[in-house]
Amino acid sequence: MEIRKGIAVSPGIAIAKPMLIDSKDYRIPRRSILPSNRAREIQRLRKAFSTAISELEEIGSSQDIKKNNIQDIFAVHMRFLRDRSFRKRITDFISKELVTAEYAVSAILREIASHFAGIDDPYISERAADIYDIEKRLLIFLLGKRQEEVDHLREEVVILAGDLTPTQTAGFNKSFVKGFATEKGGRTSHTAIVARSLGIPAVVALGDMSSEVPPECVVIVDGYRGVVVIDPDEDTLSQYNQYSRQMTQFTSKLDELREFPADTRDGVHIQLMGNIEFPDEAQIVVEKGGEGIGLYRTEFLYLYGGQEPTEEDHYEAYAEAIRAVQGKPVVIRTMDLGADKLPHSGWHAHESNPVLGLRSIRYCLQSLPLFKVQLRAILRASVLGDVRVMFPLITNLQELRQAKMILRDVMEDLDEYAVPYNSELPIGIMIETPSSALTAGLLANESSFFSIGTNDLIQYTLAVDRANEHVSTLFSGAEPAVLRLLRSVIQDVHKAGIGLSVCGEMASDPEFIMLLLGMGVRVLSLAPPMIPEVKKIIRSVTIEECNQLSRKVATMDSHRQIKNYLRDATTRILPETF
Ligand code: PEP
Ligand code: MG
Repeated sequence: MEIRKGIAVSPGIAIAKPMLIDSKDYRIPRRSILPSNRAREIQRLRKAFSTAISELEEIGSSQDIKKNNIQDIFAVHMRFLRDRSFRKRITDFISKELVTAEYAVSAILREIASHFAGIDDPYISERAADIYDIEKRLLIFLLGKRQEEVDHLREEVVILAGDLTPTQTAGFNKSFVKGFATEKGGRTSHTAIVARSLGIPAVVALGDMSSEVPPECVVIVDGYRGVVVIDPDEDTLSQYNQYSRQMTQFTSKLDELREFPADTRDGVHIQLMGNIEFPDEAQIVVEKGGEGIGLYRTEFLYLYGGQEPTEEDHYEAYAEAIRAVQGKPVVIRTMDLGADKLPHSGWHAHESNPVLGLRSIRYCLQSLPLFKVQLRAILRASVLGDVRVMFPLITNLQELRQAKMILRDVMEDLDEYAVPYNSELPIGIMIETPSSALTAGLLANESSFFSIGTNDLIQYTLAVDRANEHVSTLFSGAEPAVLRLLRSVIQDVHKAGIGLSVCGEMASDPEFIMLLLGMGVRVLSLAPPMIPEVKKIIRSVTIEECNQLSRKVATMDSHRQIKNYLRDATTRILPETF
């Protein structure tokens, strides 16, 4: 039995057999196999070799390659792949060490590459790069097959991986993928956000999990406490089975709150809305008692399916979500692509610092045809219900004005063809950079509403990557700098009299609910599965208690002190969560 501690990013307990998926750009951990699976792994290896050889034959015969005289490079690759002793070395390794084909490929090829790299002859040392290329080529096939296995699961599993992209996570079949655990990642990474929205228990940032995961073992993913147990003993397994039953009872009890309003004990109504990534989640928002959709992350239309969505794809997706909430508001955020949300590799030029690069509204403003397709669809859908449009990552007035100008252009196009839309469509922005927070007063004059995206706001204020496990303890909404910015935005919004919500993960975190209410927030948009728990907190407190708590927090000078204080206050209300 091995117990690992990471960051809990999506609540719930999953107990199932592990399924291991790795990424070709990442170290391949050692994975053991049963002796009975030896032949199967060797067969997978053979297939990988023959696929790589056919691919190279095809590439080598292409005219471009011939013209440019780069056949030699491929000839070197081919020689290696056809070398029987080279292949035998890998099959022997699988047989003797009882490891997966991908691990054997990676281990042997890296050994050869580092041997070459150390030789004092430039011709030979440069061959190391060829070996890494061959490794990649073989791994693409082997890992691709693993991904296909994940796509066609027939039994329940928990996924163990170095890292997962938001797109991979969104593609999991919930009936079979019961949970996942990754070595990398952070609480507000988009992978974590998708897991929460789908209700898949998950733990990230576990560090090196390369220690062997025995074949045929069971793994527990405890998404409440951020713990993963590999190959648990009987006592641990039965304790977890019991804990899981208790938590299921607790959650279904919370679900009974669905019919009750999110009113504080002194009668102040708090509007609870849902964050969604896919249109079918709108139904979950309704089931959990949400009062609309406060954040529709539309970029997932680009991340899923591998093709650029057409105007009709956009329209259908929005129409589905709008119909599901039956007249309640739907805030459609224009696409927030870039940073960790990339449709495919080679999507746009490589950036050394993508979080500060061409992402989100900046990308849209430089890709007008793509942006206009989405805006047309949003406008067309605006007649189907209470639709609002929201621009992400606005940093200054000029960007907001530009985005609005393009929206007006699209409106004029629709006018020309007499296509109906709501000309009074509310236009809001996300406050997720210190720059927009500090100029909130100016931006409020030209916006119908704000939604505070605390995930990015924390990342940019504290200069802490939201998805990097090495700095995850520094990523905290309880930092006095973050709270000052929040207070100042809330004050500016109240002065301007426009709408305000918080849609970052802070609004899903039980510990921050009283503080947000005390700071004056009355609309929260959160992961749908968290709505009942947050409602329970709201229904247990008075606004006066929240105001007092907020005043007290304002006197504190460290995030640790604030966090402990908030945790104590929340534990008194909802001990089951902690
Ligand atoms: C945020 O940054 O807080 C936010 C809600 O947007 P996203 O998480 O999609 O970046
Ligand atoms: Mg954001």
